[in-house]
Amino acid sequence: MPESQVSMPERVDPALLHRVAELAAEHLGGLDERPVNATATTDELRAALGGPLPDAGEQPDAVIEQLAAGAAPGLVASPGPRYFGFVTGGSLPAALAADWLTSAWDQNTMLFVMSPAASVVEETVAGWVLDLLDLPRGSGVGLVGGATVASFTGLLAARGEVLRRAGWDSDEHGMAGGPPIRVVVGANVHASLMLGLRMAGFGRAQIETVEADANGAMLPAALERTLAAGGDSPTIVCAQAGEVNSGAFDPLGDVADIAHAHGAWCHVDGAFGLWARAAPSLAHLAAGAERADSWGLDAHKWLNVPYDGAFAIVADADAHRRATGVTAAYLQQSAGDQRSGGDWVPDSSRRARGFASWAALRSLGRSGVAELVERNCALARRAAELLSAAPGAEVLNDVVLNQVLLRFGDDDAVTERVIAGVQEDGTCWLGGTVWRGRRAMRLSVSNWSTTEPDIERSVEAILAVAAAA
Ligand SMILES: *Cc1c(COP(=O)(O)O)cnc(C)c1O
Repeated sequence: MPESQVSMPERVDPALLHRVAELAAEHLGGLDERPVNATATTDELRAALGGPLPDAGEQPDAVIEQLAAGAAPGLVASPGPRYFGFVTGGSLPAALAADWLTSAWDQNTMLFVMSPAASVVEETVAGWVLDLLDLPRGSGVGLVGGATVASFTGLLAARGEVLRRAGWDSDEHGMAGGPPIRVVVGANVHASLMLGLRMAGFGRAQIETVEADANGAMLPAALERTLAAGGDSPTIVCAQAGEVNSGAFDPLGDVADIAHAHGAWCHVDGAFGLWARAAPSLAHLAAGAERADSWGLDAHKWLNVPYDGAFAIVADADAHRRATGVTAAYLQQSAGDQRSGGDWVPDSSRRARGFASWAALRSLGRSGVAELVERNCALARRAAELLSAAPGAEVLNDVVLNQVLLRFGDDDAVTERVIAGVQEDGTCWLGGTVWRGRRAMRLSVSNWSTTEPDIERSVEAILAVAAAA
């Protein structure tokens, strides 16, 4: 052993874990009052955390102190109550704690035998989610890292199944040489769904777009026209529950029915919006979604589990498993009714994500999920009401869910200045977007810990920045 080499401890010292608990508690305790934005420059972060890998190792406690101190000024208070950027959930206490245990347990959920506990927890969470969102019981459910991969998984199942129905076995022969597949999306399709399509082998020029209404929801008559015009090739229709800017829902029941009348598969990107089905006062927005064939759903947005977690759901569990199943070669390892997590995701080895979602759902209960979603939407409406009453601020969307689009004056440059000013001010954080060709600022209320005073304080800060801009 070279002299500079630090000897590795023989086991994990509980003091290390206690110190990490202390650092985490300090961080979480400060979220409410620290600036929401990161304060360090990129160069400062590189100076603290970058450089070449040293030859000699260091003791775990020293490594952790260095990481915590170096990262702190570059962290964003995104799990805190006044982060309204993108669509961002925080971490429910039980979910965060379960996620720590997940790392300590370090289970691989590819095969049942690798972790019976992780498998049963995944199976339980899958059942809870199908029940809560009233999606077909018995659907395949894969625990993936995000809605992008969730939709990608749905698209893989869709691709295989529409070809199979057309008499083409793509598992055996691939896609080339098979019948061409039509892919239809709404005009307001999320960029990540286009990525999923690209990964599934569909090029931009192959994708047909259906017109949407002013709030970004697909027009069913336009979908009918598009499908009727195209003959009877195998077809995949991609709908959306919760447009990322406006929160709008495609009319999912109509879209699914029209797709099916044309023999098409209907996939729903429901990253955050599908959770509306868990809330009695909002469920009507996603009515009929259960008639689709596959769904992508995030856990790390509205369910407020730590990154990363999402659900890939496919009504036809056989089609799902044909697309992503990997365990056939290992079948002797588990009995027929024992779930192997690897069968439902485009991964093999993977983190036991089910524990955090199990804890989130168990701590909220059915009524708690409904209350969380409804409370966030009420706070979004409150923000919209306060802002639209102020001179100079304009709400651009119909606030149907938790998303609010704001604009300041006629000139894009003013809205740009407000976005930059709000981010620099640090009271809250909102990002920019483009809505119907114009710059807008987007406010998303998706965090379990956001309160009405947080909304009022944020609106005040936004209006002060806007007045100066
Ligand atoms: C966030 C989002 C996605 C992508 O989800 P990830 O978890 O980031 O992969 C897809 N669709 C919509 C509508 C979203 O809001």
